[in-house]
Amino acid sequence: MDSINKLIELFREFPGIGPRQAKRFVYFLLTKHAGYTQEMSRLIADIKDQIHTCESCFRFFPKDHSPLCQVCRDTSRDDTSLMIVSRDVDFENIERTRAFNGYYFILGGNLPVLEKNPETKIREKQLISLVEKKVAKGLTEIIIALDYNPEGEHTREHIERVLHNNPLSSHIKITHLGRGLSTGSELEYTDADTIKNALKSRI
Ligand SMILES: [Zn+2]
Repeated sequence: MDSINKLIELFREFPGIGPRQAKRFVYFLLTKHAGYTQEMSRLIADIKDQIHTCESCFRFFPKDHSPLCQVCRDTSRDDTSLMIVSRDVDFENIERTRAFNGYYFILGGNLPVLEKNPETKIREKQLISLVEKKVAKGLTEIIIALDYNPEGEHTREHIERVLHNNPLSSHIKITHLGRGLSTGSELEYTDADTIKNALKSRI
């Protein structure tokens, strides 16, 4: 396979990218000057070394001296609440609203509705182990903040079941984002006011 087709195949693996868009990306790269493509390949080559996964919330963050990201190591945040989101982009969008001051957990995606092995698709075990640690620090509420679409709802019901089945959660209130989110909403594309309202009216 020549390098054009090889690159097209690689771009096709990106989320939401079909064969036509993948092809457009490759031809776009061919129109750019060498400095652009060199910087891009350098950044891609280094990204795994430069970026770490936080040991607590599983968010990606620029590598430094700590195994914890800036949010998890911030002791001024509210220990009583933990918010579960699907992906890093959802965390970023919610954090930008400044409407939430607790800690986060990144599930790593949503569960497909017919998934037979849910524990392999999302960080279920890691969530339980974080909840155990947070309970010892005074956790009283877990807010499930997932996309308001069939996959997000399915994931929420699954997580609620997993949490309710754990004796630890008997004194934790488990809530989820409330009114304001319209059906089909993906948190990544939801505006700040809508998120703030959904958080205020959590149920
Ligand atoms: Zn973290």
